[in-house]
Amino acid sequence: MGCVVQKYGGTSVGSVDRIRHVAQRVAKTWKAGRQVAVIVSAMAGETNRLIDLVHEVSPEPSEREYDVIVSTGEQVSIGLLSIALQDMGVPAESCLGFQIKVMTDSAHSKARILDIDPSRLKSVLDQGKVAVVAGFQGVDDNGNVTTLGRGGSDLSAVAVAAALKAEVCEIYTDVDGVYTTDPNMCVNARKIEKISYEEMLEMASLGAKVLQTRSVEFAMKHDVPIHVLSSFREVSGTYVVKEEPSMEKVLVTSVAYNKDEAKVSLRRVPDRPGVAAKIFNPLASANIVVDMIIQNISREGFTDLTFTVPKGDLKKAIDILQPTAEELEVPEIVTDEKVSKISIIGVGMKTHAGVAAKMFQVLFDEGINIEMISTSEIKISCVIKSKYTELAVRALHDAFELGDEEAEA
Ligand code: ADP
Ligand code: ASP
Ligand code: MG
Repeated sequence: MGCVVQKYGGTSVGSVDRIRHVAQRVAKTWKAGRQVAVIVSAMAGETNRLIDLVHEVSPEPSEREYDVIVSTGEQVSIGLLSIALQDMGVPAESCLGFQIKVMTDSAHSKARILDIDPSRLKSVLDQGKVAVVAGFQGVDDNGNVTTLGRGGSDLSAVAVAAALKAEVCEIYTDVDGVYTTDPNMCVNARKIEKISYEEMLEMASLGAKVLQTRSVEFAMKHDVPIHVLSSFREVSGTYVVKEEPSMEKVLVTSVAYNKDEAKVSLRRVPDRPGVAAKIFNPLASANIVVDMIIQNISREGFTDLTFTVPKGDLKKAIDILQPTAEELEVPEIVTDEKVSKISIIGVGMKTHAGVAAKMFQVLFDEGINIEMISTSEIKISCVIKSKYTELAVRALHDAFELGDEEAEA
């Protein structure tokens, strides 16, 4: 029988009892005669604890040492899960990123996987053992430990599944599938049975953290089918697969939110060619992803420039912007971390007018001010004050009739 990859997230391995429960589920698959590679995250809260520790020692830690520290949470969980499996009579071997050669570039804290050599993993599986792999970590060409960005164990799982040519990559988490919006925020969110990579990619990149963005990108590129399932309840989940003609092309399929971005405004920027490049090039070189960008109409040769960056990169972004701002005699850089980006997503939007207008009306009816807007063929995003996140998500989910009517009743 074939090979299956299973990934268990932080909540799923959040305590010794839960690790034992995961071991039982893994054992069931192994006993059915399948080869199993299991990817695990750090125990819930552990990665945050490690990041806080680093920042307690230094506000600007070395990126190399940061990864040495924050990657350790996964080492503990793979050891514990391997022991739990062995205690149940299931042979298991823990595998760290460098041991199975999860090769990445050297962009510490957000490294990209370049290649995984399947030989060591295959030899573990061929010996009849369960391979228990540390998520979130890799190694660069110089032998330095790297990490893959928050939520990166999803990417580890998909990459291992691609390397092993597994039948499926099962992602076990604390919800039982991908929903029309975060089910922890909206009680009548509806489970989606099957979703295309494209749509899932859009949802993930707009904040639906049930799958990490790069993991979906990788799965799409390497044709890895993903099945999102609950660790706790044995019910059917959501398949993420290639687009099929039978998939519904409804106008709006989901609502997503992202509270992890901060807004940066540069006031009175000289409005002349080359200025935008001067501002954004150094941010790009420092691997800082700039998202929404708005430039106001020019007045007397000056304009205001506003954009968003990940909150975790805000300090670094400001440090990088400061010398350029001085050179351009920009009088003020204003930042706001209390913002949230709300998005509606749907491939059917391409051919319909009026979706954006409806979204703006819904937000207006709730008294929510829109601070920034961006659109693409299949999504519309608005930046609002973060305190209105829940209100906006629920109102949009209702207005576009995405809910489960039974749950509503
Ligand atoms: P894990 O630790 O298993 O990786 P995460 O916390 O990263 O789990 O992702 C699961 C969470 O994603 C859920 O608890 C849920 O709150 C959130 N989420 C956000 N949007 C969605 C969505 N559209 N469908 C399902 N879950 C979502
Ligand atoms: N432990 C890492 C994190 O908290 C990776 C993961 O959970 O996917 O971001
Ligand atoms: Mg996750």
